[in-house]
Amino acid sequence: MTKNIFDIAIVGGGPIGIFTAFYAAMRNLKTILFESMPTLGGQPNTLYAQKKIYDVAGNFGISGEDLTKNLLIKDQRFNYETQVATTVQHFTKVDDYYQIETNNGTFAARALVITIGNGPFQPRKLTFAYDPSIEGKQLNYFVQDLQDYKGCDVLVAGGGDTAVDWALEISKIAHQTYLLHRRDQFRALESSVTNLQQSPVQILTPNIITHLELDPQSDKLVVTYKIVGTDQTAQINVDKLLVNYGMTNNSRLLRQWGLQLQGPLISVDSKMQTNLASVYAAGDAVTYTGKQKLITLGFAEGMLAINSAIQQLYPEKSHFGHSSSLFN
Ligand SMILES: Cc1cc2nc3c(=O)[nH]c(=O)nc-3n(C[C@H](O)[C@H](O)[C@H](O)COP(=O)(O)OP(=O)(O)OC[C@H]3O[C@@H](n4cnc5c(N)ncnc54)[C@H](O)[C@@H]3O)c2cc1C
Repeated sequence: MTKNIFDIAIVGGGPIGIFTAFYAAMRNLKTILFESMPTLGGQPNTLYAQKKIYDVAGNFGISGEDLTKNLLIKDQRFNYETQVATTVQHFTKVDDYYQIETNNGTFAARALVITIGNGPFQPRKLTFAYDPSIEGKQLNYFVQDLQDYKGCDVLVAGGGDTAVDWALEISKIAHQTYLLHRRDQFRALESSVTNLQQSPVQILTPNIITHLELDPQSDKLVVTYKIVGTDQTAQINVDKLLVNYGMTNNSRLLRQWGLQLQGPLISVDSKMQTNLASVYAAGDAVTYTGKQKLITLGFAEGMLAINSAIQQLYPEKSHFGHSSSLFN
């Protein structure tokens, strides 16, 4: 059996990973992009989707969400494969390629570009014990498909932009939507909070969820919550609970990859080369003299990484051409 070996694997589907994958495909490399979350986009899409960004060249005042949408515009001339919900756990050099171990199987690529930001994003989960079989069914930390909430009684928990935005969105198709938060004030855009007040979403504040149980008769989730500042509890029965308590990330995996690090960051040279052969890095994950964690700078680092990889993989093709002359 012939092994499916990619020219390049991009590890991390934030803005820098997405653009680097696109650029690699444009430079004719057989490319695969891995992202540990169910959706691409990294920090702008996950942490500040509704905030406006003013310093990404040519995208004045664009929201994190729209920047992600623009980065994901596909052109059939520049195709790359994408694996979401796939965390790269380890990679090992075998002959002239790397074997890449993920939670979704093993892949192979001749070179890697690491664009993992601060490490894989994980949702902040409920801290009390609950039956794990409800996760992904009645209890969710991400919206995979909005239609799953159609006609349901839904409780959204959280007080930031993500919770407020999802409560508003879900309320358009759900039977009844509740939004539960531990404070009376929400940490969301003022315009979203105004929309919330005018929406059919029923607000349950200031409350904290303390217990979950599935009622086997009705298949409903019985959610017990404590009223903050009192000993009183109350219950609500819903079909679905969506918890949006924010995200965390860690650099545990990175420390096992044999890369030269400075603190939690990967040391790279001016070609974005790491200490490992054929392994490059770009974006928030890297450090060098003068590094700043900015999107536009990360895009340029991604281009440098790909052009360095081409020089090493296909020296005969490494002639640099402007895209405007290559594809008109
Ligand atoms: C609130 C806020 C506002 C900001 N505003 C601006 C701004 O106005 N202008 C600006 O230029 N910058 C801004 N930034 C910084 C900017 O968002 C970052 O510089 C940028 O997101 C870095 O992109 P990245 O792709 O390197 O990393 P990230 O965006 O962190 O993406 C990394 C991705 O890699 C994935 N990943 C990690 N480990 C693995 C693994 N092992 N396997 C698979 N996938 C993995 C993660 O899940 C994540 O999706 C802001 C940041 C924040 C937090």
